[in-house]
Amino acid sequence: LRWCTTKHIPVTKMTKQETIQIPKPLEQLTASEIERKACIGKIMTYTLRSLTNTYINKGFQWLLPVALSQSTDPLWPDPGASIEKRIEVDIYGKPVRTMSSMIIHKLVAASTAYPKLFILSPNIRIEKGERAKTGKHIYEFTQLDFEMADSGSKDVFALVEDAICTLVKDLKKDMKSELTTLCRCDTLKAPKAPFKIYDRADLEAKYGAEGWEAGIAKDITEPVWVTNIPREFYDYEDFKTGKWDNYDLFMPQFGEVLSGAKREYEYKKIVEKIERDQVKKENYALIIKMAKEGRLKPTAGAGIGMERLVGWIAGVKHIAECQPFPRVPGNVNEL
Ligand code: AMP
Ligand code: MG
Repeated sequence: LRWCTTKHIPVTKMTKQETIQIPKPLEQLTASEIERKACIGKIMTYTLRSLTNTYINKGFQWLLPVALSQSTDPLWPDPGASIEKRIEVDIYGKPVRTMSSMIIHKLVAASTAYPKLFILSPNIRIEKGERAKTGKHIYEFTQLDFEMADSGSKDVFALVEDAICTLVKDLKKDMKSELTTLCRCDTLKAPKAPFKIYDRADLEAKYGAEGWEAGIAKDITEPVWVTNIPREFYDYEDFKTGKWDNYDLFMPQFGEVLSGAKREYEYKKIVEKIERDQVKKENYALIIKMAKEGRLKPTAGAGIGMERLVGWIAGVKHIAECQPFPRVPGNVNEL
């Protein structure tokens, strides 16, 4: 039996018995909760430094994010999305939305001046209040969002595997005391590349259409890729085979921390898919135009949810624990 020193209950029992608590705002934390929060904060800083270093060392440009734009991610049709409200305001006589992701900006930027780019992009997704206790959803979060021109899935896999393996290996060396406080010193294993790849269709056959995400997360002991997930128009779909060239990264016991894809860049396919999904064409006029003119490049990329990645590393029950100012669906604090 292993004992977690900070909680004085067996680690094995802890995971089974504890129900998910809503993370409290800073001013309500007890002294031991502040210690825990500080450890998670240090791991977040370490993770940001490690990942941004990896990307910069590989020649990526670091772009600053935008907050308001006419065009943003439709988040549709993604079976995982559950949006209660979309925020739209008028500025200078034009409607703009808060960013749900910078996917559209990435496609244009990677096709023009920034062939290898990343952004720490704040995303606002007003998730349904009933998601308060999933532990995996917050209504403001940050993606390390990246895109590479003239690249495919294999390039993204190699890049992410290198970034994650380096991060965890270094963390285990440099952040021993923080990981010990969080009871993750023993349970956090340094992963080995290459990660296994599963097809979503096979997982559905094994675990069921509703249960495959929870099923695979429970059964794996190393990070794995899941490919071929039907979703938004900008992910690449092979019309002949019906297969999607996209992917999620799943962490053991935790679940999805990254989604990405090789992207569509051909005019005809983009228009056909936008119409098929009944997404508003006028919101995507620019990329449709660029595709028509042959100016959209074949790119591939992904977004890593920073709170989820650090949540997995720190072994949190709720990813809002990784936020200084928790954004739990349905819960609005003063800060
Ligand atoms: P998506 O492309 O919608 O899967 O978003 C990319 C990544 O952002 C996901 O893999 C998650 O790590 C993260 N993410 C998406 N939605 C949320 C949310 N509501 N709360 C926290 N992280 C999220
Ligand atoms: Mg996803």
